[in-house]
Amino acid sequence: MTPKKIPYLSFDGIHDPIAKELKAAASNVIDSNWFVLGQEVRSFEEAFANYTGCRYAVGVASGLDALIISLKCLGIGPGHEVLVASNAYIACWNAIHAVGATIVPLEPDPNSLNIDVNLIESKITDKTKAIMPVHLYGRICEMPAIMEIAKQNDLFVIEDNAQAQGASFRNKKSASWGHINATSFYPGKNLGALGDAGIITTDDKDLAELAAALRNYGSKEKYLNEYIGMNSRLDEMQAAFLNVKLKYIDAWNKERLQIANWYSQLLANQPRLKIPSFHNDNSYIGHIYLVRCKQRDQLQDYLKEKGIQTLIHYPTPPFRQKAYDFLKINPNDYPIADELSNTCLSLPIYPGLSYEDVDYISKTVIAFFGD
Ligand SMILES: *Cc1c(COP(=O)(O)O)cnc(C)c1O
Repeated sequence: MTPKKIPYLSFDGIHDPIAKELKAAASNVIDSNWFVLGQEVRSFEEAFANYTGCRYAVGVASGLDALIISLKCLGIGPGHEVLVASNAYIACWNAIHAVGATIVPLEPDPNSLNIDVNLIESKITDKTKAIMPVHLYGRICEMPAIMEIAKQNDLFVIEDNAQAQGASFRNKKSASWGHINATSFYPGKNLGALGDAGIITTDDKDLAELAAALRNYGSKEKYLNEYIGMNSRLDEMQAAFLNVKLKYIDAWNKERLQIANWYSQLLANQPRLKIPSFHNDNSYIGHIYLVRCKQRDQLQDYLKEKGIQTLIHYPTPPFRQKAYDFLKINPNDYPIADELSNTCLSLPIYPGLSYEDVDYISKTVIAFFGD
């Protein structure tokens, strides 16, 4: 038997079946002689707005830029506090810092690993301006509760939808709950471009117009600059690819969820391994299948020896990153995020990963524990 080689992520099952469509889309853009902010971008903005159930969508260059521009649109800046999960991805923290606002970290719920809704109110001060729920690992946050707290306290909500394209809470899609929301299309996301891309969604016409100006030098009309904006335009090539790929996102999410269910069946009842708990109601879209165990590093090495690549999301929480030393955060205040970073391991999950491979990975995990 040849030894197995299973990468953490493979694009073969995603791009091979639609290679013709992707190549045709690229050809069209080349032939069009129009490369930035054109028909492909407009049609993707419309399609993605439709898909999420939002009125407006504004394409930008990345997920980080989508977060930064969203915060700017709400007028969030120096003197304002933004609540965000202590275990969020670094981009969320960077966006809040980039606009000059103060990062206020909150521990995640130990089960959902998303921002603990019960902690939000204790962190609200008269400087608090917004909550940034991050739908980590493909699971949507408890949006109805978050929106209610925001309403009671007169706060804005900016969803970070980088890891949950297509997820929904009671049939309302992610990136349609907050006042203005950010999605990334980094290639490894469930819906990914073939390069960098992002989008902002909102139901508010004024916010959408401001976002469209801010991504393009603060200009609504060529050479007239109303604001000091940035260059964060979505290009035609990426929008063309996304127009092709958007048609498949629901099928891909379904396949990922199937894989997550296989893992959960095969890995159940391992006392030393904590598997994720999720519902099959589209509140989780299988972006990351994250298991937790005390011997995480040894398990990762063991899997690697057996040809299975895994990743760690994330090995260092933002408050322990050198970049945030200046905040002088006491890590002891964030034991859940800390423990998570020491115990979490992400198993391969992507469209095209076969049951046979999931079975092999699961059996190898079980063999590591020796029972
Ligand atoms: C990927 C990601 C981002 C950043 O997106 P980019 O497009 O890489 O800038 C932001 N937040 C989360 C949670 C992410 O996973």
